Amino acid sequence: MTTTTATRTDLTMLIARATRAMAIAGLFDQNGHISVRDGDVAYINDRRSSRRTIGPDHVAIVRIADGQALHGEPPSETALHLACYRARPDVGSAAHFHPLFATAFATAGRPLVAAYCAGAVFGHEVPVFDDPDLIRRDDQGREVASVLGEHRAALLRGHGVVVVGDDVPTCVTLSVWLEESARRLAHTVPLGQPKAFSADEIRRLTASLWQPKVIEKTWTDTLERARAAGAFDDLPGA
Ligand SMILES: [Zn+2]
Repeated sequence: MTTTTATRTDLTMLIARATRAMAIAGLFDQNGHISVRDGDVAYINDRRSSRRTIGPDHVAIVRIADGQALHGEPPSETALHLACYRARPDVGSAAHFHPLFATAFATAGRPLVAAYCAGAVFGHEVPVFDDPDLIRRDDQGREVASVLGEHRAALLRGHGVVVVGDDVPTCVTLSVWLEESARRLAHTVPLGQPKAFSADEIRRLTASLWQPKVIEKTWTDTLERARAAGAFDDLPGA
């Protein structure tokens, strides 16, 4: 697939804004990356740039089939993103990061169950990839994609999370919700055993929440919080 200049400009700006917004949301620290699929390539924030200040010129472009960098310097764990795209034709955007609360559950060996509404869209329990090593090779990426299966997220024990969605707004929304679910659960555990949702409750809550208007609201709010913090001040048109 040939990427037009207009599309390339749009997608590099989209990734720059999403990366900064994820940083302002407290999900990205010095690590963390988000990518978007465009035909046979993926756009991803590069290896060296601060997630808080990355500009569109520092968004890398990688060929999905073989990981060849076509522009820029992709992050070291790009293999994780590429494996998700290869395994899941439905995935249009992927994120990998090391959020405080969601990571703590896998680190403690405690299941991140759906017991707060934002967690319902991830199903009864978020699957866990049980190896703390960084995902820098294709074979590791395939193993994570296998654990992810058809889920919207997986935890990487002692490491972080991977989240996948149809597009960047969906992936950012799921990233916010995954950490929100974990944060609420972490505050619940000291009070008592969380009351995990039943299959019927998960089904009804997912039907209520998993709607374009709810995703758009979360995406807009995440962007506006970043804008209000001045994170887009130097991005033309953002
Ligand atoms: Zn990582």
